Amino acid sequence: MRIVLLGAPGSGKGTQSQRLVERLGIPQISTGDLLRAAVSRGTELGRQAKEAMDSGRLVDDSLVLGMIRERLGEPDTRKGFILDGFPRNLAQAHALDHLLEALKQPLDAVVQLEVDYGELVKRIAGRRSCADCGRVFNLMTSPPSGASVNCPKTGQPHRLVQRPDDNEATVAERLRVYDEKTRPLVDFYRARGMLKPINAEGEVDTVTRRLMQALGVPVVTRARRPARKSAPKKPVRRAKSAAKRVRAKPAKKRRTSPNPKARAKAPARRARGRRR
Ligand code: ADP
Repeated sequence: MRIVLLGAPGSGKGTQSQRLVERLGIPQISTGDLLRAAVSRGTELGRQAKEAMDSGRLVDDSLVLGMIRERLGEPDTRKGFILDGFPRNLAQAHALDHLLEALKQPLDAVVQLEVDYGELVKRIAGRRSCADCGRVFNLMTSPPSGASVNCPKTGQPHRLVQRPDDNEATVAERLRVYDEKTRPLVDFYRARGMLKPINAEGEVDTVTRRLMQALGVPVVTRARRPARKSAPKKPVRRAKSAAKRVRAKPAKKRRTSPNPKARAKAPARRARGRRR
């Protein structure tokens, strides 16, 4: 499947792309991640991109397109891909069309992740990622917890850092740039009958379900535990006869306590008694 995830900064493109990677086994291509990697490696491309990224503007189309052309030429994209953060303006969308036409790999769907402006700002302010493994957390909604406290690379608690462009001033500019340059792509892909808008607010799992539904991917439900062999199911007594039984016995001779908490403890107490 060849998919574009379209959405404002903080709409969850990266998080949902990861879910799709696991579910569909196709690579995520994030121009933001590719550019950040170039910056941290100190390449010429990274040097040229850094200033625009730090101030919340778009990096030059020529740099981004060169990067995408190279990435889409790699063999792992034959079975499909998820484009995250690309295309980001009409020129990039047209260039992508031509590139995919030449590769004979047309897009299957463009999913638009819709999130309210106020929610976007809140999400970005709380966003942190691990400096070692790159996993993304949110201090407000999904901090490291339980099995995710330690970094799989270092075995130590994650070293959480904030992206340099996640500061207040840059975020405001990124959202403005999204409205001006990227939002027109919604109409562009709608006119081609490819747009699938989904509500991207709420729990991550809920959004994933909406995303899978929009893509027509069957949702996997968790397998039910098989019934234990040693405990065959007793036939369910009808409520009416149970009520009669309780009424038939005087209260003090009742073996089960009317208090539900004490009733819950009773089997454990009986088991202890047997051991003694
Ligand atoms: P977000 O979607 O949260 O803004 P990204 O990680 O996708 O974050 O992008 C970070 C920055 O990288 C952008 O603000 C922009 O400067 C640059 N960038 C990413 N993708 C593109 C693109 N397709 N075209 C131009 N610039 C891009």
